Amino acid sequence: MFAVGLTGGIGSGKSTVADLFAARGAAIVDTDLIAHQITAPNGVAMPKIATEFGASFVAADGSLDRARMRTLIFGDEGARRRLEAITHPLIRTETERARHEASGPYVMLVVPLLVESGSWKTRVNRVLTVDCSVETQIARVMRRNAFSREQVVAIIARQATREARLAAADDVIVNENASVEELGAQVEAQHRLYLSLADA
Ligand code: ADP
Repeated sequence: MFAVGLTGGIGSGKSTVADLFAARGAAIVDTDLIAHQITAPNGVAMPKIATEFGASFVAADGSLDRARMRTLIFGDEGARRRLEAITHPLIRTETERARHEASGPYVMLVVPLLVESGSWKTRVNRVLTVDCSVETQIARVMRRNAFSREQVVAIIARQATREARLAAADDVIVNENASVEELGAQVEAQHRLYLSLADA
């Protein structure tokens, strides 16, 4: 099935834009959701995480103790890499599975780290980047997550640059001061393009 990879920095508006594509009939596969599912109770990543990090990182219900893991990897780049060595391949496998089970005119994979991590770009037909300024990202995420400015800046610093995401894009949705109507119009135009490419 024709596949679009949707990416963008934190707070750029990926979820908002994905919802607008879903409303038009695109099948959405969200890798953040899958990342959460594999570390939910009995998630496929949990046995490996228990072996690698110890049972103390598994909560009573069998899910990942997220607070504990966050604290560990915050100051420990090696631990972060060990966690990602477990989760990233599983996210890829589960995403491929969901993608093959999806039904619709085309599938849209929401991949926040499309530019940062591995071969995503080669596994989709088209890359769509949601773009906005860093200041807008900061303002949105401070409001949405009740984070401090420093927290948001630190997250953004770990992600690819705006320029790198734009360079990777076939298509761009500009979500800077965009009203719901403007955003909808941009999504509509892209959706029509993807319908025709999927059909070809
Ligand atoms: P992402 O999924 O990329 O992190 P979201 O879609 O969650 O971003 O958007 C971040 C926040 O900004 C959300 O609270 C969302 O409602 C808000 N937001 C996104 N786009 C706009 C916009 N054009 N106008 C106003 N608020 C927006």
